[in-house]
Amino acid sequence: MVLLKKLLNNLTFHSPAILSEEEGKQHPKELEVLILLGILKQDTFPQERWCPSCENEFVPIQIVSKNRAFSLCTMNEEAGRDYFDPQNLKVWQFDILRFLGLIAKELKINGEIKNVVANDLWQVGSIKKDNRHFLVFYSRTNDINSHAAFFDAFKSPVRAFVIFTNAETPLINLNRAEAIVMPIADFVELKTKSLSWDTNAFQNHLLTAFRQVVFYPSNGDLVVLGKRLGNITPSSPEYFFVLVLWESFNQPVSHNDIFSYCKEKLSKQKDYTDTAQAFCNKMNSNVKKLIKNNAVDRIFVSTKTPNRLNAYKMTNPNPE
Ligand SMILES: [Zn+2]
Repeated sequence: MVLLKKLLNNLTFHSPAILSEEEGKQHPKELEVLILLGILKQDTFPQERWCPSCENEFVPIQIVSKNRAFSLCTMNEEAGRDYFDPQNLKVWQFDILRFLGLIAKELKINGEIKNVVANDLWQVGSIKKDNRHFLVFYSRTNDINSHAAFFDAFKSPVRAFVIFTNAETPLINLNRAEAIVMPIADFVELKTKSLSWDTNAFQNHLLTAFRQVVFYPSNGDLVVLGKRLGNITPSSPEYFFVLVLWESFNQPVSHNDIFSYCKEKLSKQKDYTDTAQAFCNKMNSNVKKLIKNNAVDRIFVSTKTPNRLNAYKMTNPNPE
């Protein structure tokens, strides 16, 4: 990963990113994989090199044979031919399109890869997860907020953007869409013969990062897209009902599991005469009364577990 990280980092500042044979040789296995995958392509052979005699000029390279070449200093008339192995001057170029193509394939991102801002920003495609659509982009530069106007104006019914970056990058603030920024190297791992992509980490990050609703266990506030909807008194039965669902966000929790959890937290193992179902329905209805916002109906939803048990789930209040 040393070479790939180095190349991605270089890409942030220069495009195309270039790797010399000398740098590559320090990590021969990684170099081999990157070449094998077509991420690194051999660049045209340089015509000149930095003069080793005077170290003050570029001088033309004269090739003698595959492993023998020389250059001649023009500053110092007494300097002779400087022989060297031209193989050491081999240069590799990072192929962004090839790299994005491999990412799209591995992470199951659909669509056509398009360069949407010349040499700076690419649209990689779209991805669907838990019935939500996301549009995936790749920003070569770190100055991601320079693309804010582009994203706000981007014509698509999908308003959730994932933006891959080369390095840790500040968040982007959009007015007409929500976006998360993910350093691409977080999802890549180098194997002996391939780059492997951590699809699960990517998808988990996708869902967590886009959690529109936040419950603050410290004070019981319920916030949706930055707006405080209301408060649930900490340590109340309703609070533990929300807390257990929050801790399993986007996953169904059975009535029985919710009931046992709440009884334990409330230290009232025997006080409740309700059935699990009656307790859960009562809590759900109390939370609605406490929050008094229509979004609550879409945040706490009645559902079933994979084993077909009656359950509740806390989820994002996607638009109706
Ligand atoms: Zn010279």
